[in-house]
Amino acid sequence: MLTGIIFGIGCFSLMVRYSATKSVVITEQHELKGEGNLEPLIDKILEEKKNYDFVVLINAAHGGENQGNTVNELREKEITLEVGVALEKMSEEGEIGFFMIRQEDTDISNENRANMIERIQPHMVVDLHVNADAMNERTFGTSVVYNERFYRPGLTNAGIADIMERNLVKEIQGKALGIVGDKQNKYPLLSMLQVPAVSVEMGYLTNKQEADLLKKDKYQKKIALGIYKGVQEIRKEIQ
Ligand SMILES: [Zn+2]
Repeated sequence: MLTGIIFGIGCFSLMVRYSATKSVVITEQHELKGEGNLEPLIDKILEEKKNYDFVVLINAAHGGENQGNTVNELREKEITLEVGVALEKMSEEGEIGFFMIRQEDTDISNENRANMIERIQPHMVVDLHVNADAMNERTFGTSVVYNERFYRPGLTNAGIADIMERNLVKEIQGKALGIVGDKQNKYPLLSMLQVPAVSVEMGYLTNKQEADLLKKDKYQKKIALGIYKGVQEIRKEIQ
């Protein structure tokens, strides 16, 4: 499957640096080792989640020293946080509530993130990432990754990923690279979860046009709206 190949190349190189005029650091290092005390936040969310009918935990991937993919000062960890904040603002009492696992520029281990998800038991998790392709600057588009090992009766993780991909790409009028099963455990957080979850690769920082969009507030809000609409459709299917 072509999309799988493209995606695989994007994730292949752990760390590549270009010199010359461009500063590129590509890291698909998703094994986060950081700490951070999430207990007060867990208590707060457990209290607030009662006000919502459908609870979504947003994981703004990376953070702190783990910057994620970085191209020309554009950092994955910042874009994921900004889109997460936009989603959080879309929370509506009695309806869908979005809560962020990482609320600032801190590194939190995947174990702690997974523990928080386990304690809160959201209806689903949306894990936000930005992609990079060290081999080809022309690669662009959006893909949604899912854990193949956990299935809900009725709607599989692949089905959930498909709904998310279609809604998001439609909203941003972007290019769908398709849905990808995380066969090689490149997204270790996904494999730790026992709730419906997707990792959204929102676009490529190595593609100039897409990078220019990804840094814009307006485009980030469009991404958030696309994800919101995806969550709305998924909610209808699983609730
Ligand atoms: Zn990432």
